[in-house]
Amino acid sequence: MRINVAPIRFANSELTKRVVETLGRVFRFPVDTAALELDLDAAFSKERNQYYSTKLIADALGKTGDLEGKVLMLVDFDLYVPVFTFLFGEAQLEGKHSIVSVCRLHEEFYTGKTDDEALFQRTMKEALHELGHNFGLVHCKDWNCVMHTSRGVEEIDVKGAYYCDRCAERVPGFVKSAAV
Ligand SMILES: [Zn+2]
Ligand SMILES: [Zn+2]
Repeated sequence: MRINVAPIRFANSELTKRVVETLGRVFRFPVDTAALELDLDAAFSKERNQYYSTKLIADALGKTGDLEGKVLMLVDFDLYVPVFTFLFGEAQLEGKHSIVSVCRLHEEFYTGKTDDEALFQRTMKEALHELGHNFGLVHCKDWNCVMHTSRGVEEIDVKGAYYCDRCAERVPGFVKSAAV
């Protein structure tokens, strides 16, 4: 197993680096960045000014056959699927691909104030959440678990940063002692 973190038009290399390093501590297998180019124009909705995340995942499917393990895409633009106004992220259940948007994880989005630490914590939670779906986990009722659903950023802040014991059992290579 390994995790490939693919920044897509993602300028915040400091955040990417921190996420990769932290995932590398949380999992017992290699985590590194991977280069991936997607057809962003094809996924863009002019009416919504957002990107259709399912289309981006479908595009990535055909371009990542040579990458072993999971592919976690990081983007800074807003995502949607037709039934929701926006998404923090999407993942294939028991699949290879996931995507996390930090667009609505920026504190600036809500209060106009920059908070790099909040951005990092929220990005990590959403990355672990989507990776959890890749590992076959569904949503968890435990608020201390990162697999709890989040309808808004305040719910991301409230929920736990890692998997609860029951969810953790199903995540290969999860290092519980690193999760403190
Ligand atoms: Zn979810
Ligand atoms: Zn759980």
